[in-house]
Amino acid sequence: MKLVYEIVILYYDAWEYCVKKVLRLRLEKSSLLISLIYYYGYLFWAKLLTRGSKRIVVLIYHSIGEGMLQEEDRLGLNLSTHVFEWQMQYLIKQKRSKIISIQEAEIILAGRYSEPGIDTYYLFSFDDGLKNFKSKVVPLLEQYHVPVLLFQIAHPLLKTEETYLRSRYGSDYTTKWRLMDREEIQAVSHSPWVSIGSHSLTHSDCWTDHLEEELQGSKRLLEEATGKIVNYFSCPYGMVREKVLLAAKKFGYKRVFTSICNWNSFRGSTNNRYTVNRIEISSFDGALKFKLKINGAYNWKRFLKSHQILP
Ligand SMILES: [Zn+2]
Repeated sequence: MKLVYEIVILYYDAWEYCVKKVLRLRLEKSSLLISLIYYYGYLFWAKLLTRGSKRIVVLIYHSIGEGMLQEEDRLGLNLSTHVFEWQMQYLIKQKRSKIISIQEAEIILAGRYSEPGIDTYYLFSFDDGLKNFKSKVVPLLEQYHVPVLLFQIAHPLLKTEETYLRSRYGSDYTTKWRLMDREEIQAVSHSPWVSIGSHSLTHSDCWTDHLEEELQGSKRLLEEATGKIVNYFSCPYGMVREKVLLAAKKFGYKRVFTSICNWNSFRGSTNNRYTVNRIEISSFDGALKFKLKINGAYNWKRFLKSHQILP
């Protein structure tokens, strides 16, 4: 009887695996098709009609490094070092564009600076603040002179990291997703290529009852540890709602970064919105999808409700 049961389970697992694989492939292909139509249909004409407008494209990364197994990274958050390095090199070589720091972005958004011949500015951002940020990312930033805005989860400054990981991933978390500790956060904050923002205290979503502690507590802890003012907040899971924006303003954040897949377009100083859109880069993205993403072909995803919870 046990054998029959095991065979049934095995068949069920195999069937489920195949269905999911096909569905994912179908989803991938259909979203690629929509993106191509969006890019060559809408965006081509939109760009012609809005000539002279500029954009800041903010990219989201999480983890960089080798040795991550597929089943440990179902969300595609970990890029290999050479892929990340290739993406940096690719953006550095782009014509009519420039990689900027958050400080330069502020000056540009305030309309106080404009470089002739440049219409796209890229800003790198990292969420979570994992250990491999210090070991893998910072050396590349120093090598290529690329600035990054790091949104750090402040929890390691408060309790032991193990408590946090267990609460987030359950007992089967792997050591590869470990956050930087106090010393590491302090060390990276001293790099001239790294600016620190907050990614909350415990990575709770925006429906938490402890919103004040997540926003205010994390800001205070990060400022105490780094000795620098923390002006920016990125919402865990990319979710944002009116209540979060009001609380962020109240506690002195200059801007809130979302995961709404879009550019931040502006003419002169006309885009001074409190929320900043960002485009997530995944390890599932090949070279073509990466190029399409940074060129705005996936901006239609901003209409998907799963990517945004705005009022
Ligand atoms: Zn996160």
